[in-house]
Amino acid sequence: QPVETAGGEDESDKKHQTTDEINLDNIESSSDIPVPERLVDQVIGQEHAVEVIKKAAIQRRHVMMIGTPGTGKSMLAKAMAELLPKEDLQDILVYPNSEDSNTPIIRTVKAGRGKEIVNAHKAEARKRAQTRNTLIMVLIFGIVGYSIIIGAMLMGIIAAAFIFMALQYSRPKDEMMVPKLLVSSEKDGNAPYIDGTGSHAGALLGDVRHDPFQSGGLETPAHDRVEAGGIHKANKGVLFIDEINTLTPHSQQNLLTALQEGEFPITGQSERSSGAMVKTEPVPCRFVMIAAGNLDAMEGMHPALRSRIRGYGYEVFMQDSMPDTPENQKKFIRFIAQEIKNDGKIPPFDRGAIEEIMREARRRSNRKGHITLKLRDMGGLIRVAGDMARQDNAPVTTTDHVLKAKSIARSVEDQISDEYTKRSRDYELTVVDGIKVGRVNGLAVVGQDSGQVLPIMAEATPTQGATGTIVATGLLKEIAQESITNVSAIVKKFTGRDIRNMDVHIQFIGTYSGVEGDSASVSVATAVISAIEGIPVRQDVAMTGSLSVRGNVLPIGGATYKIEAAAKAGIKTVIIPHSNLDDVLIEERYKDMVEIIPVSTIEEVLDVALVPERKEAFMEKIRNLARMTPAEFLEK
Ligand code: ADP
Repeated sequence: QPVETAGGEDESDKKHQTTDEINLDNIESSSDIPVPERLVDQVIGQEHAVEVIKKAAIQRRHVMMIGTPGTGKSMLAKAMAELLPKEDLQDILVYPNSEDSNTPIIRTVKAGRGKEIVNAHKAEARKRAQTRNTLIMVLIFGIVGYSIIIGAMLMGIIAAAFIFMALQYSRPKDEMMVPKLLVSSEKDGNAPYIDGTGSHAGALLGDVRHDPFQSGGLETPAHDRVEAGGIHKANKGVLFIDEINTLTPHSQQNLLTALQEGEFPITGQSERSSGAMVKTEPVPCRFVMIAAGNLDAMEGMHPALRSRIRGYGYEVFMQDSMPDTPENQKKFIRFIAQEIKNDGKIPPFDRGAIEEIMREARRRSNRKGHITLKLRDMGGLIRVAGDMARQDNAPVTTTDHVLKAKSIARSVEDQISDEYTKRSRDYELTVVDGIKVGRVNGLAVVGQDSGQVLPIMAEATPTQGATGTIVATGLLKEIAQESITNVSAIVKKFTGRDIRNMDVHIQFIGTYSGVEGDSASVSVATAVISAIEGIPVRQDVAMTGSLSVRGNVLPIGGATYKIEAAAKAGIKTVIIPHSNLDDVLIEERYKDMVEIIPVSTIEEVLDVALVPERKEAFMEKIRNLARMTPAEFLEK
């Protein structure tokens, strides 16, 4: 494990932190907000990752970052390149090898020197060629002149032409011997940052180009065809690879070798090309690797590569939301100012616009008392809002522009869900009024940020086998399957019926991409109880909630999106778990469309969802049943 030699915060860090002065009450527009210089200070909400990056930069350690896209992984990798020492940057040159032309020679020099060397070689070659040409001319004129004098002009011209051709052909190709600058660094520039995401082997590991004319004076010399790969360009800097698991195993294996050796020869990557015959001396590639991905990435990753990073570096998990504290609000406001400044083209945001973006960030966090850190998407929204303002020729971006931007910049899933809702209404798949036995409007999340009404139907029939079974259809994944099994405990208890001689069928409608979590278990229980007891369910009610085996309603994800989807579909009442109440941040326009009823137990759900006239006797029964101990229950 790496030794910790430096703390995350030091005095120089303090002066970069500019959030202290931010106070929304004193701000006219986003242009009043100071933005820090260094990239690492611009990162918000990822304090742990920032600290790791600072430490890793001092010790030149590799880092693995796992987390949701758009939370700042590549930004941190770039920030790390800024922090790496500039002094030891290098240029890499490749020279022809007169002894073995297929093994070009590699030399490294201080940053900036490479260009000078190549230029000096070029000048030298030019000078030599000039001297040579003068010599040839003198010789030719000499011969021709002499043959005129002795009266054998034709002979003389022929002789001169022969000599000229022979000299041209045998001439050492001076310009061919000029070295090639393989990797060049700016003197006093930042350490390189190379993004190797999705690179094919040649781009990552270097390549030697194919030469169609492999001899006869027309060939390009081997060293001139050598191309550096990402690993070489990142020498002394940072190599960032996102979605690390998508690299081929071959590339991952080679990457590991490069990490271990700190140098890697360049050879032609395609077997049948003439480039494959060439292999340079080892080329330095002492880079810090930042590998990134989501959780799946770790599974697809070469185990040796992962263990190399873990053994010689750090692993960080990126946050996707931060607590909604005054301090974090200031940081978020600064983030808005940063995005506006970095874009350079959009007008500043006034206070209303900043507040509206904040509201949206809270909404998108999907979590009580949190602000989202999926900041790439937030940046997108900020830019669209700015474009709206520019279209209007407005000097500042206002709340209206942000609201307009929100209705335009919607995710594909959200647009699809709207389209689906419209169509299913056309075909009457979505029923939002009247009453029905065994049918419940459940709610589901599609993609990351949109909801959908998910109808669930249940039917109970006498069994034809020895014991009753519960069958659920609609592409249920594991957790959804298990939740069905749990529901049966509730059903047994609440109906008080022996379901041993009943088959219960549960159907999820329109779930072509499967049902994932257990957030439909409240709806399933309601549908099944309605089917068994024959009590109709109100169809203007939609519900979401997970159910414990004891009948408590547990929290679910995506409450806001689900409620909005219900409102869009025309539902009047939405039942949600009580513990999700604070997560609800629905947009203004939906507020009057639906009533939200928070519940804690399945009894409360049934009380709302079942049709009043028919449920009294049943509700009385379950109230009694709920009070009973198991012993009393069995006796009865
Ligand atoms: P990732 O690599 O995790 O997919 P990026 O680093 O490419 O995400 O983030 C894209 C953009 O979003 C950044 O350039 C920056 O403008 C903004 N951004 C993302 N995360 C943060 C953060 N934690 N702090 C400030 N800005 C961020």
